[in-house]
Amino acid sequence: MTSTADERLATGRLTIDLAALRQNWHDLARRSPGAATGASVKAQAYGLGMDAVARTLHEEGCRHFFAGTPAEGLSLRGAAGEAEIFVLCGLTMDAAPFYREAELTPVLNSRHEAEIWSQWCRRSGMRRPCAVHVDTGMNRLGMEMAQAVEFADANARDHLVTVVLVMSHLACADDRDHPKNREQLEAFKAVAARFPETRCSLANSAGVLLGRDYHFDITRPGIALYGGEAGAPGDNPMAPVVTLEGRILQVRAAKAAETVGYGATQALKRDSTIAIAGIGYGDGVLRAASGSGVPMRELRPGASGWLGGHAVPVVGRVSMDLTAFDVTDIPRAVLEQAEWVEFFGRHRPLDEFARAAGTIGYEVLTGLGHRVARRYVEG
Ligand SMILES: *Cc1c(COP(=O)(O)O)cnc(C)c1O
Repeated sequence: MTSTADERLATGRLTIDLAALRQNWHDLARRSPGAATGASVKAQAYGLGMDAVARTLHEEGCRHFFAGTPAEGLSLRGAAGEAEIFVLCGLTMDAAPFYREAELTPVLNSRHEAEIWSQWCRRSGMRRPCAVHVDTGMNRLGMEMAQAVEFADANARDHLVTVVLVMSHLACADDRDHPKNREQLEAFKAVAARFPETRCSLANSAGVLLGRDYHFDITRPGIALYGGEAGAPGDNPMAPVVTLEGRILQVRAAKAAETVGYGATQALKRDSTIAIAGIGYGDGVLRAASGSGVPMRELRPGASGWLGGHAVPVVGRVSMDLTAFDVTDIPRAVLEQAEWVEFFGRHRPLDEFARAAGTIGYEVLTGLGHRVARRYVEG
């Protein structure tokens, strides 16, 4: 949820650059000129805040939103205006009336859900639109191919429900040479042909980057809108949107051979200056990004932040509220002025931070906690 934390009282802040968000949406729209560019806003728009993100994208012309759950769909309606809101998961008989109340479009993931929607439409005398999700090889959500074909025929015959979108999801789009991309594309085309005159959607962010064959009528980018990597590691054409900073609570001098933090896992190699920032794993700064003393460090270096124009490595273990940085090389005058240290954002890519912790930008963003104050800026 969007935090209501007051920046003056918070020890962590998340700055969300709405101008960069706008730019990324238009960038993706230019890359898929034949399709309408939608937006995946599940998990509170990847932790950025559903309301601000949806309002901003709606202003730019986004008219297709993909929410995760019915509750998210409901909370999205005010910000999304008259736009179509698709809810990816969670159609039950109990939830169905809420879909109507907020004019949400359920994504039917199984014959069972199709049955729920058709029963509910019959009972309520309303023919509300729905989307059909077909699993083309991911084995996650969606009707199996054969089921979907059978359902298409039954629906053409008996008009059970009004299908306005047929969609599927790519498992490996971030690897452009993966053979599964083509396989899923061919499977999707075959099943889409059974829903003639229904709009089609296949591409997430990485799918948009795969090129025209994958775009169809509506795209559903998420991570690329928010500035994260969608394709190959280290190759990110999007503008950074999100900056996470921790307030510097204390700067201290430590001697060579002393240690920093829980477990005393890292002995200092030289006399050092250590800055202590006021966020830790209790705020979503993953402990796996620690400078030492966690299993990830056997595989790759820990995270670095950014202070006064320099990268500053995390030292020792990240704790619940606190993270230590080695700022020995930062000039004293700069340190005296510094209030915040950047964990990732404008200067340190989100995905580098994520890689240090052995994960992906998606998990880092959606894991940021309530104590972190969100602030929205334009540029
Ligand atoms: C999350 C999601 C998306 C967006 O994926 P990104 O990789 O963030 O662009 C698109 N479609 C579905 C079904 C999703 O679950």
